[in-house]
Amino acid sequence: MAFYIQKYGGTSVGSTERIKNVARRVAKFHAQGHQLIIVVSAMSGETNRLIALANEVQSNPDPRELDVMVSTGEQVSVALLSMALMELNIKAKSYTGAQVRILTDSAHTKARILKIDEDKIRDDLKAGYVLVVAGFQGADAAGSITTLGRGGSDTTGVALAAALKADECQIYTDVDGIYTTDPRIVPEARRMKTITFEEILEMASLGSKVLQLRSVEFAGKYKVRLRVLSSFIEDGEGTLITYEEERGMEQAVISGIAFNRDEAKITVLGVPDHPGIAYQIVGPVADANIDVDMIIQNVSHDGLTDFSFTVHRGDFDNTMEILRDKIQPHIGARDVIGGDRIAKVSVVGVGMRSHAGIASKMFRVLAEEGINIQMITTSEIKISVVVDEKYMELAVRVLHKAFDLDQVF
Ligand code: ADP
Ligand code: ASP
Ligand code: MG
Repeated sequence: MAFYIQKYGGTSVGSTERIKNVARRVAKFHAQGHQLIIVVSAMSGETNRLIALANEVQSNPDPRELDVMVSTGEQVSVALLSMALMELNIKAKSYTGAQVRILTDSAHTKARILKIDEDKIRDDLKAGYVLVVAGFQGADAAGSITTLGRGGSDTTGVALAAALKADECQIYTDVDGIYTTDPRIVPEARRMKTITFEEILEMASLGSKVLQLRSVEFAGKYKVRLRVLSSFIEDGEGTLITYEEERGMEQAVISGIAFNRDEAKITVLGVPDHPGIAYQIVGPVADANIDVDMIIQNVSHDGLTDFSFTVHRGDFDNTMEILRDKIQPHIGARDVIGGDRIAKVSVVGVGMRSHAGIASKMFRVLAEEGINIQMITTSEIKISVVVDEKYMELAVRVLHKAFDLDQVF
């Protein structure tokens, strides 16, 4: 007998029929004698619908009220799944995040989990219940409902697995594992049987939405056994996240390709090139709680240089305003220009550590397609480039092929 946390995403609970299907799957595990906590997302499309409603009423929805509202999506799902389980004669009980007491900080719409109360859950498990817990939400110390950021149900699942020391956290979704890249963009993408923690951490942070980044961080911190599988296929093995450093010799140098449309690029032109200038530009942006991602400073000519960086697309207008109103007059820059039609494409693989020439191959492949690279960043196990958004899918496809990711090893 094992203790599993199973998380079912929005598509998997997208209709009452699908919820009944999830209940049947859960019943199978239950019949095998496993202890189960099921985490569910809102029915697909529901979170977007709720956010749109808020935007109809308030131009910049109050974050506390937004959380009160969007958390209802998951509340509906847990009740429906509990009912579906009861229909199969299984003792089931639903919990919202606040009822469990998933304690978070007060950063509404992107709260972090601080602590999970185990007592009620342990008692219910002992009494033979299958627990159904609402993903994506918690409550802060004052009792206000909070949410964990888009895709946050993954993090609820992994955090529960860490807190309760479950044997495995299983993320059930609409694909049967983690692929070499998003199979919606590249149909030849292959499922990986395993992926190292470091690789999935990079892929998630570089835009692969198959797992929320924070769920991967949580898994790494507590060494949670984490697996991604399909809720539509019987008995698949999915993809297991591994924590060991070494892999077999036959492994590909590159494991996967991630991409992200959610960025925007800003360039401050004609900046006087003297010490402290990077801080004077990036400091006020960071103070406004805006994350700066890639940064490039050109060589200077006649004491002037250009300084470019990327931010999340949702922060673009805000950042432009800060730069134009506060920074440009202050530092005497010539102009501030920007655009949000860019995308970041990244190749990721721990094998890069021991192989040279990956960057040059990547740049050659893109050049052969006439794709201009606007920015580059690298780390030990990834190379990222910024390209015009309209070339993103082409870039992903040609790189996937060039690095033989469609080949079975
Ligand atoms: P859920 O609603 O179950 O949380 P998501 O839509 O958040 O599902 O995540 C699953 C989706 O992630 C897949 O349908 C797929 O299009 C996308 N995806 C992006 N990158 C990858 C990848 N490398 N492997 C598998 N799926 C990926
Ligand atoms: N329902 C939330 C979202 O759409 C959380 C999740 O699905 O993980 O972002
Ligand atoms: Mg998701």
